[in-house]
Amino acid sequence: MKTIDLATGVPDIESPQSAAAAAVDAIRRGDTRYVGAAGIAPLREAISRALHERGLAYDPSQIMVAAGAKLCVFCVLSALVKPGSNVVVPVPHYGGYRGQVERLGGRLVGLTTTRETGYKLTGAQLRDALDGDTSVVLLNSPANPSGAVYTAEELAALADAVVNHSSAIVLSDEIYSRFVYDGRAAHSIGSLGPEILARTVTIDGVSKAYGMTGWRVGYAAGPKAVIDEARRVHASLCNCASSISQWAAVGALSGTPQDHHDVRRHQELRDLAHAVVGRWRGIRTVKPSGAIYQLIELVPEELGIAQGEELSFFEAWACRARVSIAHNGRFGEPVFGRLTFSIPRPELQEGLGRLSVALEELADTNQLSSGKGTTQ
Ligand code: PMP
Repeated sequence: MKTIDLATGVPDIESPQSAAAAAVDAIRRGDTRYVGAAGIAPLREAISRALHERGLAYDPSQIMVAAGAKLCVFCVLSALVKPGSNVVVPVPHYGGYRGQVERLGGRLVGLTTTRETGYKLTGAQLRDALDGDTSVVLLNSPANPSGAVYTAEELAALADAVVNHSSAIVLSDEIYSRFVYDGRAAHSIGSLGPEILARTVTIDGVSKAYGMTGWRVGYAAGPKAVIDEARRVHASLCNCASSISQWAAVGALSGTPQDHHDVRRHQELRDLAHAVVGRWRGIRTVKPSGAIYQLIELVPEELGIAQGEELSFFEAWACRARVSIAHNGRFGEPVFGRLTFSIPRPELQEGLGRLSVALEELADTNQLSSGKGTTQ
């Protein structure tokens, strides 16, 4: 039986032809040498226009391009995090953040969120967590792995906490901004006014929106001093992102994402995933409002899982079902796991069906061995 991959965070979208054509043109023209660490001007201009459409007034000089949003996050964190700095982030959070912050000698301060608030951080919670050591507040809406999408009011409460109660910079990772469902909008915290814009670095890229994860093009836009320092870090690490990929990104941005990215299809896949996962016993979740993931929160007492056994439960479950699940404590707490629903529908259906059966079997076995089950 072939293993079904519901772990990888790659959207089921082809790179646009406009990207491929622009890349081929760049190769034929010989645009194949180093470019500056900030990225090619036509791309930064296209990014600036795209950000303006989202209410974010960033000049091309405030934008840097690197090989993926993840590298942009690292360059910006390198500019802001000093040994001993705190970086505040809601839990569950994207698995890539912790390693980056800790590598820089910073401390990741995870703020617990629950299903009751849709796994979103509140303004009051953030205000209480901010102190003189907080250098960065990491936000990610639409969120990986919860699918949470903050409303403009919720973001305004967070912006108020940051502006009035700290000197921190918000790093707003908006890589899933094109994946929002049920007619919602993906608001950018930096669009809420000049004060918060001056304190926000917005991260995005072509990986998810344009199905271009392998081209490696992401960007950061923010206060010029922060971007200049992040660009220097980038120059010291790798000079520049691939010139060919940058031209491909120009090609992608010249089209509209709707031409090749069908939000309605994703919404239907989301509906399918949530309808199945929402019925599972011992699992808490929410209906994702955005991104491409269905969150799984284990309720250990309902599943007969002893403390510290969450990861082995995930492993046993994935192995029994022959379906890979993203987990490993990467999301801030070992109870959190994640399923990608952006795959062809028949595979998703088959994967979810296998996980349903395996969960029942495992939960029964656990309950019996812990003496809580019946012997019928
Ligand atoms: N941020 C988040 C929240 C992500 O989920 C991912 C990819 N899984 C990234 C950043 C990295 O994006 P890129 O491929 O552009 O480096």
